Amino acid sequence: MTQVTVWNEFRHERQNDTVAAVYPDGIHSVIADALDEAGFETQTATLDEPEHGLTEAVLDDTDVLTWWGHAAHDEVRDEIVDRVCERVREGMGLIVLHSGHYSKPFTRLMGTSCSLKWREAAETERLWVLEPGHPIADGIDEHIEIDEAEMYGERFDIPAPDTLVFTSWFEGGEVFRSGCCYRRGNGRIFYFRPGHETYPIYHNESIQRVVANAVAWAAPDDGPTPTFGNAEPREDIDTSDERSVH
Ligand code: ZN
Repeated sequence: MTQVTVWNEFRHERQNDTVAAVYPDGIHSVIADALDEAGFETQTATLDEPEHGLTEAVLDDTDVLTWWGHAAHDEVRDEIVDRVCERVREGMGLIVLHSGHYSKPFTRLMGTSCSLKWREAAETERLWVLEPGHPIADGIDEHIEIDEAEMYGERFDIPAPDTLVFTSWFEGGEVFRSGCCYRRGNGRIFYFRPGHETYPIYHNESIQRVVANAVAWAAPDDGPTPTFGNAEPREDIDTSDERSVH
């Protein structure tokens, strides 16, 4: 069974009454409950736990890590970021949510600033499915509509995604690449935009479905472990035609 670790900064929920009203037990518990119900084996980890809850043992038991952070990206220790990025390259899936675009693991794995435009005006967002046959869009209508969302707008300074599954339109006129697939090493990465902390977006069933689909998509396969470096020939190479170098 796919094992998921749901990581959350878990500061806004403890410091801000508006956020606590939407996510009394934290964003991570809502996401973890939804993934649990979707049939994944789920655990949670948060910033203020020792090693941010991401010990070697936890990551060894993690097929897919989901990441929500916003105000404390800088407090994530670099050695833990190293550990997460190394596990991604080895094959662990990574689902980066909303303001996680500025997280250390995501910016490092992308190699770009991951900057964007934003506006908090409780406007409508419509996420259009660009790839209806893609497993991450499974069970989703032609679009998902969110009544009240924070706007993220282009340009989003990311590398061109391998596959762009969703594009968002916002009431104020901007558009945004809101569902982006990547590979880094053996690992799969999905960036998914919705999820501002003051709106009940992770309670939305379609959003929960996309996150669950993304976890299933990002879970590692039993493929071969690649080898690198100098390689002996597998067959005898005919060297009689070798030209001498003058
Ligand atoms: Zn936000």
